[in-house]
Amino acid sequence: MTDRLKTLFIFVDGLGMGAADPETNPLCDPQLPNLGKLLANAVPLDACLGVEGLPQSATGQAALFTGMNAPKAMTRHIEGFPPARLKEIIRHENIFSKLRKRNQRCSFANSYWIDDATNIPPRQQSVTTVMTLSALGGVLGKTELLAGKAVNHDITRWTMHTRGYDGELIRPEQAARHLLDLAEENNFTLFEYFLTDRAGHSGEHELISQTLETLERFIPQVAAFAQQPNHLFLLCSDHGNIEDGSTRTHTLNPVPLIALGTHAPTFQSLENLTEVTPAILNCYAQA
Ligand SMILES: [Zn+2]
Repeated sequence: MTDRLKTLFIFVDGLGMGAADPETNPLCDPQLPNLGKLLANAVPLDACLGVEGLPQSATGQAALFTGMNAPKAMTRHIEGFPPARLKEIIRHENIFSKLRKRNQRCSFANSYWIDDATNIPPRQQSVTTVMTLSALGGVLGKTELLAGKAVNHDITRWTMHTRGYDGELIRPEQAARHLLDLAEENNFTLFEYFLTDRAGHSGEHELISQTLETLERFIPQVAAFAQQPNHLFLLCSDHGNIEDGSTRTHTLNPVPLIALGTHAPTFQSLENLTEVTPAILNCYAQA
């Protein structure tokens, strides 16, 4: 498998490209030099997709991971978890199912702290959960997390003590190692981080800076994935939020697309969220 393309895709919820003003944009913090450098070279993608109102998670993520204009298909931006009709769209075609058809091994790296990894209540299914259950049959669970073969959504496991986890916290660098190992075993690996959106909605400065500090330590480590031959690193979001400290809502800002390594130039000309999945598939057509 060494000659086949390997991609590591980090999805960061609620991360837009805001003003270069440290007064309003917490991403301009000089304490975040690595993250800042990566974002400075990101391609701005439109997340509004021609539909009025603030872009939202369910339709934005569906657009990102299916390549369809989901807000247009649903006639509005839909927040949170996808409703039944949008779930159908996501199940029908998504990045995992499309890559599986091309015989590419896919993994959703997030661990779920549950006993039955094939059975998640429909009301708790996010876009990535829907597409993972549908295309990959199940999500990663407790066993994989404890073996260092999956990553908790919060990276360091700090939110897990309320859920019955009595293990230790791990450093962002360790979580990055786990993710890099997993990504080596697959052709396409996705990790989702959504505390950026939560922190943005909270408006709490302390939580926002803790969240971004974790990313400052985690993202550069996982971006090093791209330094090997035939390896592609991608990072993208579904809509803005945390980059504008003057509001606790989502924003109309473009979202950053970071592409590093093999095929990275292909991504420089993209303009909106619906173009990401087709561009990725195109890389595998050439691989
Ligand atoms: Zn979102």
